[in-house]
Amino acid sequence: MTPAAGGLTRRTRFLQALGIGPVWVQRDTVVSDDVPLPVAIAVPAAPPVAGVAAPVVSKQDKAVSAWDDASVPVRAAAAAAPILVMPADEGAVAIARMSWQELELAVASCTRCPLCRNRKQAVLGAGDQKPGWLFVGEGPGHVEDQQGEPFVGPAGKLLDNMLLALELPRGENNYLANAVKCRPVGADGKDRPPSVDESAACRPYLERQIALLQPAVIVALGKVAALSLLGGDPKIAVAALREHTHRYGSIPVVVTYHPAYLLRKPLDKAKSWRDLCLATQAYASDGKLAV
Ligand code: SF4
Repeated sequence: MTPAAGGLTRRTRFLQALGIGPVWVQRDTVVSDDVPLPVAIAVPAAPPVAGVAAPVVSKQDKAVSAWDDASVPVRAAAAAAPILVMPADEGAVAIARMSWQELELAVASCTRCPLCRNRKQAVLGAGDQKPGWLFVGEGPGHVEDQQGEPFVGPAGKLLDNMLLALELPRGENNYLANAVKCRPVGADGKDRPPSVDESAACRPYLERQIALLQPAVIVALGKVAALSLLGGDPKIAVAALREHTHRYGSIPVVVTYHPAYLLRKPLDKAKSWRDLCLATQAYASDGKLAV
């Protein structure tokens, strides 16, 4: 990517805010230098949903690098059969034909899964509706539920810095969405990740958003988003999905860590930055970005 004049300085500043340095220098591959060469895996595609093109996962010809030992045994599980249940009900078929306005109304009053019971409001997403980039997280948290905006609070602030490091101010050439549109609440009243069934129930909305947005690249933030987009074994680790350019239909998908995870594990920010660099390459290869 060729930054605008002065862009390197801005990027450096945001990278420093992310705790990342030195500034990234594009390489031909993102394979780590300090680990033995690894075994490549194929990640299974999700079962098709009626009326929607099935996501396709492509295996790049380069090997996957093992960033951490814990991810290695999980990679074997990646070849297991997908177990996500994708609803192909009448509602899903209707959602696949909705306009933006219809989608907003449908999500606001949706009762397709139990998450409708505890929401203050559904959070469909926000941003440029003709974006180059789509970022998908897991679901609204307490603050998002209150404000009706995706990615607010500390994780949202970190995501903003990640976007700015890519020279993408929030809402400009990017759209932010989640795998589920209503806040998952645990028995303790705290935020929790959505279940497989909740993600599956909400998936037609995400599919319709993608069909309307037609982004050049999708960044899946965390495992819930990755599984919702790509299918696969819920036991798989994010580490096993990173460093591949997957496919949702014809759209490249890059998987990285959720900003909330990065707040807990700041040492993984550098890995996430490498993932964003891979996404930049995928975006560039779409022809929508001069390199
Ligand atoms: S999370 Fe999705 S499927 Fe569940 S009630 Fe909310 S909008 Fe409907």
